[in-house]
Parts: sequence; C-alpha cells; structure tokens
Amino acid sequence: MIVIKFLPYGKQDIGEDDIQKVVNVLKSDFITQGPKIGEFEENLAKYCGSKYAVAFNSGTSALHGAYFAMGLGKNDEIITSPNTFVATSNAALYLNAKPVFVDVESKTGNLDVSKVSEKITEKTKLIVPVHYSGNPVDLKELSEIAEDKGVKIIEDAAHAIGAKYNGEKIGNSRYSEMTIFSFHPVKHITTGEGGAVLTNEQEYYERLLMFRSHGITKNNYINQPDGDWYYEMHYLGHNYRITDLQAVLGLSQLNKLDRFVKRRREIARTYNEAFENNPYFDTISEKKRCQSSYHLFPILLKDKLKDKKREIFTKLRKEGLGVQVHYIPVYLQPFYKNLGFQKGLCPVSEDFYQKEISIPMYPSMTDNDLKYAIEKIYKSMKTFDQD
Ligand SMILES: *Cc1c(COP(=O)(O)O)cnc(C)c1O
Repeated sequence: MIVIKFLPYGKQDIGEDDIQKVVNVLKSDFITQGPKIGEFEENLAKYCGSKYAVAFNSGTSALHGAYFAMGLGKNDEIITSPNTFVATSNAALYLNAKPVFVDVESKTGNLDVSKVSEKITEKTKLIVPVHYSGNPVDLKELSEIAEDKGVKIIEDAAHAIGAKYNGEKIGNSRYSEMTIFSFHPVKHITTGEGGAVLTNEQEYYERLLMFRSHGITKNNYINQPDGDWYYEMHYLGHNYRITDLQAVLGLSQLNKLDRFVKRRREIARTYNEAFENNPYFDTISEKKRCQSSYHLFPILLKDKLKDKKREIFTKLRKEGLGVQVHYIPVYLQPFYKNLGFQKGLCPVSEDFYQKEISIPMYPSMTDNDLKYAIEKIYKSMKTFDQD
C-alpha cells in the first residue's frame, strides 16, 4: 500500500492531557459560565503582559467587541490592511463604520505604515494593523503617526500570539488600545472556536464584558435595584460568550504555547536555509525589533513564476502539500465591490495575492515532514520553470 502524505498549511496540536481536562469540565457542574473562563483570561493577560483579557467565542466577535468598546460607530472610518481575513473589516461594518484600505509592503504583506498618514481624515477613528503571518507591524512607527493625528490603534493579532516586538510580547498593547487574538484551530492555540481581547484600560474592559453578554451588567446600575435578582441592560450587546469547556482547552494549550512557537521558529529557520537564494520565490524576513510567531509560512513567487501560480498550487496539492493562499484582498470580494471598492485600489496587495502561497507550518510537523515538503516544493517549482 502506498501511503500518501498530506501536510496541511496549518493544524491544531491537541494532546491527551488537553482532552482529559475538557472531559473533567464536562463532568463538573459548570460547562458554560464556570471558573475556567476567568482562569484562562488571567493566564492569558499574564502571558502577554497585559492588565485585562476578555475571552470571546471567536476572533471575529472579539474584533466586534473591541471596536464597540472604542465607541466606533456610524460616520467613523477605520484604516486597515486588505491583506487579511474578511473579519477585520467586517467587524467595522457591523457597527456601520467605513473601512478604508491602505496598501501593504511587498516584502512582508504588512500594512505599509508610510502610506497611513495620507488616508487619515477627520472621520478616522481607528487604525487596525494585522500582524500578517505572525510577523509584527512596526508598532512604534505606527503609534507615532496615530498619536500625531489623534487616532487610536487596535491590533488584529489573530496570527501573532507568542510573537514579540521590541523584545516584548504582542498582546501587551503598549502601542495600542486593545489587541485581539483568535483561537481557531489553524491558529497557534485553540479553543475550537474562540478569541480574546487584551487591554490595559478598565473602561474598555468593562464595556467588553457587557458587550459579550447582551450589554447586561450586574453592577453600576442606572435605576434602583428591585432585589438580588436584578440586572440591567445598557447596550445592545450579543451572546458572544465562550464556554468553560473551551476555556479549559485554551488554558491547557496556553501552557504549550512557548513550545509551539519555538517549534514554528525552528521550522521557519529550516525553510529559510533550504530556500536561501533559490530562483523561484522569496520568503518573508523579520525586520529589526520584530520576532515572528509564524502562524503562516508564506512563499512569494518571483515574477517569472507568478503567472503560473494556479498550476503550481494545483501541483503542490497533488504532491500532498495542503497549501493555501492568504489573502484575496478583502475589497475584491463581491460584497465589498457592491459597497463601491474597485480593483486597483491597493496594487501591492493585489500583486502580493498573485504571488503568495502558504506552505505547511505547524508545531507537530516532524523533521521528515519538513524534508518532504522542501523536496516537493523544489520539484514542483522546477516543473514550471521550463521556459
Ligand atoms: C482568523 C482571523 C480572524 C478571525 O478569527 P475567528 O476566530 O476565525 O473568528 C480575524 N483576523 C485575522 C487576521 C484572522 O486570521
């Protein structure tokens, strides 16, 4: 029997110990709003060096909560990158705010900080950088621009838990109001679906807690309470709560995060050595001050091959590599086109999309898997580098 390998671009790493902890919660009295959520939040905040963490039932609801907590609303604009998952800008649309896309850097796929100023208007309330692939945006530079213009920053760090900027963990929100993470299974640690917002501001923290649960509070009442059962709803919130089942998985996974990131960085080093000076594609290198946690390992096809990306992608899949593409520029989606966005808006992001392929990158990849991936990538590139 021929065993055909299939190495996805990313996947979760769940151990027996993780499973046992979830089972224990299932057998306990609290499977939804129990003690594990607070514990997870506390450990997450401590890990990142942040005062508060609020867990949500997805990275998307965390983004929605963070934008809400900032007071984003109608007639406001947010500046963000088109090289991201649709959730980053969708969450602004949920609040009737307008996304404004600023182009990315060709070498990193991150927001081009030098192009931000020219897009800031009276209406700009927020800049949302995405640490693409786990490689931090230059936050110091961005925060200087934001401060100068009186605009706030929220970091979409769905790719970047465990990454460092200036030697400190992403998530400490030193240069921003809030930072969001996702715990979807392709991300570094998972809770099934899940996410979190980190912040150092008590005011945001309190709004986040309420927004996650229908806008309801059990203190700071406007009216006199009728009795001990009393609660009040102040905002139109949602049911964005995470469960104890998920939180305990997150807690368990968080203990493994440093090991996961270490392995991801080892894999990246091996890839970078194997691909050094190759004639087919470039890889992303870390800028000074930035240490990536490598959610993804993007390769960027050189000009001579980028027109063949479709064929190369299919070939890589046939060779057992579950490659993926990150991302179709958000504003090219039909929904965004209907809002009036047009092709050509961010040419670097469109070119990035033409040349990007994400190759396998996850902590349980073995050295053999890695060798296999490198061989198949070279073999596939050679096939298409004939003419
Ligand atoms: C995954 C992701 C999200 C959304 O997170 P979910 O947990 O899937 O809702 C938001 N932004 C970016 C950049 C992501 O990669």
